[in-house]
Amino acid sequence: MCGIIGYIGNQEAYPILIKGLHRLEYRGYDSAGVALINPNGQLNIYKNKGKVSQLEESIEGKDVSGNIGIAHTRWATHGEPNNVNAHPHYSNSGTLALIHNGIIENYALLKSGLIEKGCTFHSDTDTEVLVQLIDYIKTSGNHSLFDAVQLALNQVIGAYAIAILDRDDPDRIIIARKSSPLVIGIREEEDEYFFASDASPIVEYTNSVIYLQDNEIAIISRKEPLKVIDLKNVEKTPEVSRLEMSISQLERGDYPHFMLKEIFEQPKTIADCMKGRINTEGTNVVLSGIIDNKARFLSARRIIIVACGTSWHSALIGEHLIENLCRIPVEVEYASEFRYRDPIIYPDDIVIAISQSGETADTLAAIELSKQKGAFIYGICNVVGSSIARATDSGSYIHVGPEIGVASTKAFTGQVTVLAMLAMTLAKEKGTIKPNELTTMIKAFKKIPEQMELLLSANSQIQETAKIFTYARNFIYLGRGYSYPSALEGALKLKEISYIHAEGYPAAEMKHGPIALIDSEMPVIVIATNTKLYEKVLNNIQEVKARSGRVIAVVTEGDEDVRKLADYYIAIPKTMECFGPLLAAIPLQLLAYHIAVYKGKDVDQPRHLAKSVTVE
Ligand code: GLU
Repeated sequence: MCGIIGYIGNQEAYPILIKGLHRLEYRGYDSAGVALINPNGQLNIYKNKGKVSQLEESIEGKDVSGNIGIAHTRWATHGEPNNVNAHPHYSNSGTLALIHNGIIENYALLKSGLIEKGCTFHSDTDTEVLVQLIDYIKTSGNHSLFDAVQLALNQVIGAYAIAILDRDDPDRIIIARKSSPLVIGIREEEDEYFFASDASPIVEYTNSVIYLQDNEIAIISRKEPLKVIDLKNVEKTPEVSRLEMSISQLERGDYPHFMLKEIFEQPKTIADCMKGRINTEGTNVVLSGIIDNKARFLSARRIIIVACGTSWHSALIGEHLIENLCRIPVEVEYASEFRYRDPIIYPDDIVIAISQSGETADTLAAIELSKQKGAFIYGICNVVGSSIARATDSGSYIHVGPEIGVASTKAFTGQVTVLAMLAMTLAKEKGTIKPNELTTMIKAFKKIPEQMELLLSANSQIQETAKIFTYARNFIYLGRGYSYPSALEGALKLKEISYIHAEGYPAAEMKHGPIALIDSEMPVIVIATNTKLYEKVLNNIQEVKARSGRVIAVVTEGDEDVRKLADYYIAIPKTMECFGPLLAAIPLQLLAYHIAVYKGKDVDQPRHLAKSVTVE
């Protein structure tokens, strides 16, 4: 995945594009580039390996004039990150510049066909095939740029969001999408258009946006109204939506990193997520997506949750919640595996798809497959209007605001919060929970934001602990029941941003192999909160200690037994077992964050990662 931004209007395009690239940099950051048509009709393309700031430096003193342009920040799929493979790519005739997000799956076939026709290639990317193909069709068939784009895209297999600039037509940009997001921002009073992979670079200019749909091509022109036509040549009437986003949500403020800001936002984001769903008296929970589809949920034979990465961890917590409260069997699947193994899905199954961005390619494919097999699909996403939100039959947003840090924090707790409300709403409707039990639960649930606040005040203590373990080469995270997914998520956070190898295990599984790894250099993080398996976890800690492992325990406040055994401990406020993961997440996020900062790693943009994986 990558970031695309473009502008056409009366202002200088370059500052808008660069600012936009900075906003989008969390989406991909191995190289960046920009193409502009200057007032003399010259097409200038600049691109550079590395961060957007390196691109800026490399452009200093060069001609960046022009009020039409496109820009890209790359997350390489084909061809190593270098100056040549960076986007924009240009056609051999030198007239077209193109940026692309996604993968052209049949690029090798298309490329050999073009080489046979005498076309030469400069890069190792799949993307360059597109610009050469469009140019070839345009010049050999004497077609307009739009026709050439449409004809070319009809030959393409794969996923794309693209934007094309034509030196010979400095009043027009053509964009198109399939399975990769593109949003168009319109500022009618100024005759300006912006477009981008997400709304973050657009929101400071306008709130009026159009989400381009799959297989649609848009002609964005200074001279004519916006036109949207699909690959089959059917003209579409685009629907204008209003953006609900504020600039402060996109800025770091006084925090050194977005990740830390987002960790600290959680008391508020979780309260926002509950808003309108838990009544003010704290006596009732209503997740409208469940109520609106009550009959469907009540007759569900089984629930399958599909997700990837951190969302898969929240799905595991969802499995416990739904099975415990609603007594419906739940299966949790990696979307990437599910989509390719012809799974058995019954028409009375419900498939829940979880994705922060709502654009995860494998999750989208799993949804399509489940749809074909007749299941009802429920989405849990953060990004409003995203592809998954549109592809599902119903769903719930987590409403935690834009998450910019590549390692997910507030989206994880938002997903768990929605899953908890889903389970409580459904349990109430099914009658699998007694009214007084539900009231007790809601009461405990409502307290989570303030308990999170309390936990955050232990930040400096966690920072101290992190310092001690900065040079560890491996970590083991252990937990049981609801805490097992917490262990997995804790280990993932550490891996993602500090590059320290870490494994999460169900604590009892340790004996079946990982125990062999334990020695005096192995830190073992044990989530040993007050649960029904507490005694058993104590035994697991003893086993680690007997082998000289160093134990960092996450305990419930007031716990004395674990404290005595552990080398270090972090106390979390008392809550119900099922809500434990919401609180345990915070110290584990902070621990990973501080270790990565001590190691001098790029916390917000860890190597090789991109925020949402829009390619499979
Ligand atoms: N597949 C293209 C490349 O490797 C686009 C990658 C991206 O989405 O940034 O250049």
